[in-house]
Amino acid sequence: MNFSSKLLESAVAEFAKLPGVGQKTALRLVLHLLNQDKEEVAQFSSAISRLRNEIQFCGTCHNISDSATCEICSSPKRDHSIICVVEDTRDVMAIENTNQYNGVYHVLGGLISPMDGVGPSDLQVDTLVERLKEGGAKEIIFALSATMEGDTTIFYLHKRLKQFSINISTIARGIAFGGELEYVDEITLGRSIVTRVPYQHSLS
Ligand SMILES: [Zn+2]
Repeated sequence: MNFSSKLLESAVAEFAKLPGVGQKTALRLVLHLLNQDKEEVAQFSSAISRLRNEIQFCGTCHNISDSATCEICSSPKRDHSIICVVEDTRDVMAIENTNQYNGVYHVLGGLISPMDGVGPSDLQVDTLVERLKEGGAKEIIFALSATMEGDTTIFYLHKRLKQFSINISTIARGIAFGGELEYVDEITLGRSIVTRVPYQHSLS
């Protein structure tokens, strides 16, 4: 693409770095911004730079948060004895949308995937073990996608967690799941949390 302006070119290059955004879309978005009021564009860029600079991760569950401890972990209305283990913040949002879960979460930050070079030490596994050592937890619910990575992660975590006298359950999997929890409809996801089953692995 030949640009008539270096500023235009560099803005398009930045947008084109976003997932799913090609050069043409990037150019359309940039031209759209150029047509907006300056204050509108200032709000847009401030939201992005504040997002990156000010956002935090909850020190307990590792969910994205505006403060050192997230709203869910600091809420006395939540049942802190039930911890739902999820891959990332999108899963927390999906489960919260069902209104069927009142426990707390633990966000792993990914799934174990030897093919991609992601091992347990790249995930928030040790902090989950620490949380359980502190006591108070009665149940762990695995809400991970029904993929090989999800299965591998559950199998590994189960080995690490079975030393604790807690119930380990998993949401009903392999039903209508196409993969990631965020794509499951709210009713199906809500029901699978309510009807969660004890986790048992034939090799454990
Ligand atoms: Zn939290």
